[in-house]
Amino acid sequence: MPVKNDSAIIQKSIYNVEKIRKDFPILQTFVHGKPLVYLDNAATTQKPRFVIDRINHYYEKINANIHRGVHALSQEATEEFESARIIIKNFINALGKNEIIFTRGTTESINLVASTFGKINVHEGDEIIISHMEHHSNIVPWQMLCKEKNAVLKVIPVNDSGELITEEFVKLISPRTKFISVVYASNSLGTVNPVKTIIDIAHQNGIPVLIDAAQAINHIPIDVQELDCDFLAFSGHKIYGPTGIGILYGKINHLEAMPPYMGGGDMISKVTFEETTYNELPHKFEAGTPDIAGAIGLGAAIEYVKKIGLDNIAAHENELLMTATESISDLKGLRIIGTSKNKIGVLSFHLENIHPHDVGTFLDFEGVAIRTGHHCTQPLMKRFGVPATSRASFGLYNTKEEVSILVNGLKKILEVFG
Ligand code: PMP
Repeated sequence: MPVKNDSAIIQKSIYNVEKIRKDFPILQTFVHGKPLVYLDNAATTQKPRFVIDRINHYYEKINANIHRGVHALSQEATEEFESARIIIKNFINALGKNEIIFTRGTTESINLVASTFGKINVHEGDEIIISHMEHHSNIVPWQMLCKEKNAVLKVIPVNDSGELITEEFVKLISPRTKFISVVYASNSLGTVNPVKTIIDIAHQNGIPVLIDAAQAINHIPIDVQELDCDFLAFSGHKIYGPTGIGILYGKINHLEAMPPYMGGGDMISKVTFEETTYNELPHKFEAGTPDIAGAIGLGAAIEYVKKIGLDNIAAHENELLMTATESISDLKGLRIIGTSKNKIGVLSFHLENIHPHDVGTFLDFEGVAIRTGHHCTQPLMKRFGVPATSRASFGLYNTKEEVSILVNGLKKILEVFG
């Protein structure tokens, strides 16, 4: 059962969810004749009008390529793009804007680090530690690197509640450990991991750490200097921003030492056929024309979220999670997968003898959008002995009424199939 914290009680009175819902045009949609109940926020979040308008404004008023133009539009586009970088830098409290690299998303950010940092720092017989609850994006790049380098991938186990077993993590560390990459909050279980403890232990052993913050970024205030993580990755579309844009944060000393990821325009300082010198940070890692509108949209999304306040959002979602957890706990044949005390608003469950896809399809006819499947965490599904789960995930605009619609839908499913 998730913990009821004081902030949930304090902030409740000022959180106006009905007002917030009006900011999201898509929430007016009807699905199969029923009002949309969107509970698939861990897959992607909906976008507020504020973000959509900023993207439209870019295309309608200032569309131009950045960094290379002397004309007015190019300068304005560059200014908006670079302002977004500063908004993101401030949001995660990076030391400097050069530590903020625009990528396509979490997946690309992790691949960038595996390919470049891994290329120069991981050698035959070295070891990399990840966890059993990683998204495929934080497994496959390291597996590919290990294959290429003849290195070893080690995995922190997970207990029956879906929590990392910290004592086992400590045992996995060896003098050959060169890197640790772990998820802050699990997309399949909701578990919030003790990343600060992991980072501190890693650093005592001189090992750098990457944090996959894809699911944490819109629920948990993140201060990269306080966390002291070496790298942090997240995607714009999980924090009410556009798809196709994301962030890699890296400590400046690492980014300086790493070779470029892709070659092309913008990442160079000087090119001759004999030799190329590379641009300064962050441009060294931003080859080619970036998703300019996406970056501006992400900046707007962060401004929007900051206005409501991450603490308020987290308190609201925690309340929804508690209500939903309580309401489904005694449904016959329903097993919650992921019962850690410390969770984001993700509720994964399995109904005995009913395939999750049937659950998803049935709920869809009630207007309820949840996700069913392995959630790109196949090893984790295997750990819990299920092929897939049904997952409801809450966002800042969800309501208790929507939780009731979900729960009533599940009761109907149990009547029909049970
Ligand atoms: N890590 C986690 C924990 C995620 O939830 C996701 C998205 N489901 C990713 C990585 C990958 O994010 P993206 O597809 O936006 O690159």
